[in-house]
Amino acid sequence: MKTHSERLFDEAVRYIPGGVNSPVRAYQAVGMTPRFMQGATGPYIFDVDGNKYIDYICSWGPMILGHNDPEVLKSVVEACEYGLSLGTATEIEVCIAKFICTKIPHVEMIRMVNSGTEAVMSAVRVARGFTGRDKIIKFAGCYHGHSDAMLVSAGSGVMTSGVPDSLGVTKGATKDTLTACYNDLESVKELLDANKDRVAAIIVEPVAANMGVVLPKPGFLEGLRKLCDETGSLLIFDEVITGFRLSFGGAAEYFGVRPDLVTYGKIIGGGMPVGAYGGRRDVMSFVSPAGDVYQAGTLSGNPIAMAAGMTQLQILYNHKDKYKELDRLGVKLYGGMEELCHQYDLEAHVNYIGSLGSLFFTQEEVIDYDLAKTADTKEFARYFAFMLEQGIHLAPSQFEAMFLSCMHTDAIIDETLNIFERYLNDTKI
Ligand code: PLP
Repeated sequence: MKTHSERLFDEAVRYIPGGVNSPVRAYQAVGMTPRFMQGATGPYIFDVDGNKYIDYICSWGPMILGHNDPEVLKSVVEACEYGLSLGTATEIEVCIAKFICTKIPHVEMIRMVNSGTEAVMSAVRVARGFTGRDKIIKFAGCYHGHSDAMLVSAGSGVMTSGVPDSLGVTKGATKDTLTACYNDLESVKELLDANKDRVAAIIVEPVAANMGVVLPKPGFLEGLRKLCDETGSLLIFDEVITGFRLSFGGAAEYFGVRPDLVTYGKIIGGGMPVGAYGGRRDVMSFVSPAGDVYQAGTLSGNPIAMAAGMTQLQILYNHKDKYKELDRLGVKLYGGMEELCHQYDLEAHVNYIGSLGSLFFTQEEVIDYDLAKTADTKEFARYFAFMLEQGIHLAPSQFEAMFLSCMHTDAIIDETLNIFERYLNDTKI
């Protein structure tokens, strides 16, 4: 007999393309049908068939405090009392903007939008408006949302579906998008030399998390900063995944490299649909209505989303020890997985930093997109299915990250490692 999830999926595919509202959720990359989730609390998520899982997706990042944090929830409920959307300027927008700008040195002004995609699209526009240049350099395997110009060698769902670029994106829309190789400054330099005075910005995930987790090599981010300084291009850090997660000031603070612009996403809304872009005052002053770079949004700065985000950010700022704890848990989980891989002679690599990590089924050390693609996706699918059956909820793709929250405990990680060891034993047979 079919499960409730399977029945829902049968129905979903009749009404929603592929049965889902975002491709990776369809489980295509692991050849399964998705589990439909009903709710989540702390480190756990529950499906419609009554199964409970330890959640390592955490809504793809924003639930740093764990699901349904009581303080965040309370602030949302209170904000709802005043109306769901006002479409006007509100006090909470000033509060959150001031909070971020006074706490993060490289963010002097900030504009709220509704998603990471919008944040990147807008940051690229303002970079072009400010510099008067057209070209953008991005990196193969980095994902910056689904705006046309960014769907070039993108990671994440685009990578797993095996279609590097999307139908419907015109050559015109991507002709100014240049693609360099992650961790390879020489490839960036070559593009800059070939496009002298034409590159508005270099956009990068300071820790790539959409081709699986790939760390910047020492000197890579610093090198990008230097190249931008030498050529007059702006440096944009896409911190949709890393912002407020690696540290309060994101990867910029973690690595001590100052971008000109930064983009944020889901984390800034505590899980509500929010994004934001910000950075240098002189650049952000170009944004309408202060300047002539047009960008707008009916629901931008929605008071409920702002209340959720403000509460989450305040908690994180006031309890910076949480970052140390996340780092410790990361070493325990990902370091533990790495050790077990060695112990069982599994040809795999675990890349990790702080609360983010990925297990790559390859003997190669993964430092860029080409090396990420050497991973054995069939073995990943087997691993995914095994872990899911044992109550571990992982991202259903080799090319996504695992996320820890402050609600994951030592006991939960021990349990996860035990299950992982069972998988390794199972593989040996
Ligand atoms: N940039 C990065 C680094 C992301 O990881 C994502 C999504 O995961 C985006 C941009 C797009 O954000 P959204 O899905 O909110 O549009």
